[in-house]
Amino acid sequence: MHRFPVPRQTLVPWLIVAFLAVLCTVMAVLQYHWTGQLSRAEADRLRENLHQGLERLSSEFNADISQVAGALTPPNNLVQQDGREAAYNRRYQRWRESGRHHDSIRRAGVAVPDGEDLKLLLLDPATQSYVDSLWPNDWAYVREHLRARMAPTANPPDPRALDHTTVIEYPRFVFEPGGPGDAPRRPREQDWLVVEYNDAYLKRTLIPDLLQRYVGNGAGAGFEHKVIDARDEPESGWDDSTRLFSIRYDMGFRGRPDFGFGGPGNGQKRQPRAGMERAMIPPNMGGRWQLLVRYKGGSLEQFVAQTRRRNLAVSGGILLLMLATVVVLVRVSRQAQSLAEQQMNFVAGVSHELRTPLTVIRTAAFNLKGRMSSNPAAVERYGNLIQQESERLSMIVEQVLQFASTNAGRAVREREPLSVARLMEDALAATRPVVESAGANLETKIADKLPMVMGDAVALQHAVQNLITNAVKYGTEGNNWIGVSACVLEGLPQQVEIRVADRGPGVPADEQAHIFEPFYRGKRAVQDQIRGTGLGLTLVKQIVQAHGGTIHVESKPMLGSEFVIRLPLAPLELQDEFAHTAGRG
Ligand code: ADP
Repeated sequence: MHRFPVPRQTLVPWLIVAFLAVLCTVMAVLQYHWTGQLSRAEADRLRENLHQGLERLSSEFNADISQVAGALTPPNNLVQQDGREAAYNRRYQRWRESGRHHDSIRRAGVAVPDGEDLKLLLLDPATQSYVDSLWPNDWAYVREHLRARMAPTANPPDPRALDHTTVIEYPRFVFEPGGPGDAPRRPREQDWLVVEYNDAYLKRTLIPDLLQRYVGNGAGAGFEHKVIDARDEPESGWDDSTRLFSIRYDMGFRGRPDFGFGGPGNGQKRQPRAGMERAMIPPNMGGRWQLLVRYKGGSLEQFVAQTRRRNLAVSGGILLLMLATVVVLVRVSRQAQSLAEQQMNFVAGVSHELRTPLTVIRTAAFNLKGRMSSNPAAVERYGNLIQQESERLSMIVEQVLQFASTNAGRAVREREPLSVARLMEDALAATRPVVESAGANLETKIADKLPMVMGDAVALQHAVQNLITNAVKYGTEGNNWIGVSACVLEGLPQQVEIRVADRGPGVPADEQAHIFEPFYRGKRAVQDQIRGTGLGLTLVKQIVQAHGGTIHVESKPMLGSEFVIRLPLAPLELQDEFAHTAGRG
């Protein structure tokens, strides 16, 4: 490479990129581990939150249903004062007036001992009062169960028979003296409030509302839930479960808290009131139902793994983006550096080329001014020299201007259908003086009936001339043969191929990739001081490419070089139309 040397630290930017790449990889590995740890911690936290939320939900649910019974059972003094029916009626009416979510009850009644049997006062919602009724068929087992409580038998009915229903009986106790002296007072069941809960309301309204309140929306993913019988075995895939529907008699009666559910709709967690001992209801202590909960779209593990994958993808993307930005920055800065280098080479190359003819012209002018002026032969010689060198100057200036304009995207001015044969003729005619003065032996082989190409005749002719001039300049040492040919290259698509060959020393293999670069000059060109700017082949390549064609060099050391231009043909319809004119318009 023979160019104006511009100091550059090529390695440093790439070392920085490599360092950053290593850093990014280390960060990515750390990130991978950290997100793994975080995910595990997050999974534990979510599991714990879910568990605690479900425990609170269970307590709240059980408290809510117990409180309904508490609200509907009158205190003993009221029963004594007003009578049983009136007392129960008043409690019910009060609950209707002040309580909420009355849909939680489907049926209610009061079972009253009647001799050895039990009579039933069934609630009539229309009149809001309990009326003497027959036992409904589906409450038969309740009756059996209570009869056994009144008079224990050898074969009492299994109390678990109630477990698959939503019916619960609540006894009203009266404390009777335990016996003589300080014997403890014994509670005795007076009658039973029988409540049949509305399971549709509990499952579709109360539980979803409590879920929303106590376990939230599951870190944005939401929850799925299912209520099954406590005795059923749940299928796998649920993240957690809790037991529901466990009645605490003390809960319903001791504190006599609010009437009915405080729950759905008020949006706030209720504070336990004094005497309620709400927190005393242990969750999962048993219950008729089992509530199963899982994160939507899979289990908690899947949810956490998905979140982790998303986090990793985002942070990996950011790291890659950073790396890509650095690579782009380095490339851009290297391009800017190489542009600066080209500009320096340009100035250096052009100045160098201008200096030689200018020196010759100045010397010739000095000589002509002096004593040589009286010598006509010397005047003619110096005159020729000045003319020659000024032509050279013009050529250099012309080449530089052309390079500037092709770089600005104006390699081709006007495109028109043109005859390749005519183009070759003109190029050969224009270079004849150069070829002849070098004593080169020019052999031409232009095929008959060459097709038309679309292009700028001046530019293409300039390209071919440039190759012929180069062949004269660099390829006539040792062998003065120059071959110029043009033919049609069969294939898809068809192309016109123009070859300019010489049998000179050729282009060294390591220079072949560079000779089309701006300002590049071969080692021999520099050593032998062969004049040139290093712009010729660059211009040729730019012109050919602007015509949609290609150029390459085939060269073997000491066997010569061959420059090959391939150009696309003009469209078929233009071939016939212009074939006869075969001109450039
Ligand atoms: P210049 O002729 O001004 O040096 P070019 O761009 O035309 O610029 O050529 C670039 C380089 O390619 C030349 O310096 C020379 O080393 C090499 N070169 C071009 N043509 C030939 C050829 N026919 N034979 C050997 N080398 C060549």
